[in-house]
Amino acid sequence: MTCKDCGKSIDHLQYRASMDSLGVQLCERHTRLIKKVILDNDTPPEAIHLFYALKDAGAYPMLEWWDGKKSVDIAISRVKLNIEIDRDYSRITHEQAISDLEDAMHSFKNGFTTIRIPHLAIAYYLEDTVQNILGIISGLKANIKAI
Ligand SMILES: [Zn+2]
Repeated sequence: MTCKDCGKSIDHLQYRASMDSLGVQLCERHTRLIKKVILDNDTPPEAIHLFYALKDAGAYPMLEWWDGKKSVDIAISRVKLNIEIDRDYSRITHEQAISDLEDAMHSFKNGFTTIRIPHLAIAYYLEDTVQNILGIISGLKANIKAI
């Protein structure tokens, strides 16, 4: 077994510890680093799962990328794609809803595309979610070339 981040080999105990706490197989150092990212940014666990699935798919994602104003859950910088994981819709306030839309508008003006992915899509259809994001990435790439 190897760490999904650095490829370092990990033993069974470390595998269990990282799978139980994060749901991704990571070495001790990366388990610690990811836990710190979660504590600092209130990152949803689905963002961690999606981040490593996109990394596996060769999409070069960045976790909790600072865009100058706020931290984006996942960014694919070469095509200026921001991915936000939507939490529980029933818990979002109306202020949050309009502020999310304003954030998306400001990013768009700066050339960034923001997509919001419901956490349930990642929890139940991780592979399909990754395939759809790869499709969006190639669509954005084609648009960048066209300009
Ligand atoms: Zn590692």
